[in-house]
Amino acid sequence: MSDGKNAAEMQQHSFSAEVGQLLDLVVHSLYSDREIFLRELVANAADAMDKRRFEALTSPALSLPEAPSIHISTDKDAKTITLSDDGLGMSPEELTQNLGTIARSGTKAFGEKLSNAKPEERPNLIGQFGVGFYSAFMVADKVDVVSRRAGEDVAARWVSEGKGSYSLGPAERDRPGTDIVLHMKDDAEEFIDPWRLRGIIRKWADHIAWPVVLHEPDE
Ligand code: ADP
Ligand code: MG
Repeated sequence: MSDGKNAAEMQQHSFSAEVGQLLDLVVHSLYSDREIFLRELVANAADAMDKRRFEALTSPALSLPEAPSIHISTDKDAKTITLSDDGLGMSPEELTQNLGTIARSGTKAFGEKLSNAKPEERPNLIGQFGVGFYSAFMVADKVDVVSRRAGEDVAARWVSEGKGSYSLGPAERDRPGTDIVLHMKDDAEEFIDPWRLRGIIRKWADHIAWPVVLHEPDE
């Protein structure tokens, strides 16, 4: 994965106003349910692997690698949690479309539902409204996505601090799929712990059809 040596080639873009509002809403309304960020990111990884398997039915070149899986690792010193998948990946255009342009399901409707919901209903609203990716910003003050679409040679990087803009630029990844690096907020360091993460996966993502591999910090 590229470590920022392409920083000079990164281009900054603004989120649409609607995405900005949505981000604020997700980050500030769901504080007590923050642990569901992991469910949402694991679900996205699994969706991307389902999509790749499906596309490979008609385009064998996109086939999944041997033992496709979702990997999660933690780094206490760097204060990061990293998720890597063998999914379909995203082209630069798809990164822009999917992570920054359109709030597909209506910020207003989501906001209304959220304020009327009972506390225990809130975690499910996030998934229903298709705003799962933004839940990463409940726990991270910077989210770094490196993705390479299956069938393409080049990768791209999308980075955002969740405050109105994101940057997009070239990156390297030796195989198709997506890496998401969460630079954790100071008050969310409790999550940088494989055991804690394992507990969250058991609770919220037990049904995921792909193997989820949690790495010990020294692996
Ligand atoms: P939803 O999953 O309901 O579509 P999300 O906010 O969780 O909404 O994700 C937005 C979109 O970003 C997804 O639909 C998908 O196109 C893309 N995406 C997110 N994570 C990944 C990933 N790991 N691999 C490929 N695409 C992804
Ligand atoms: Mg999702």
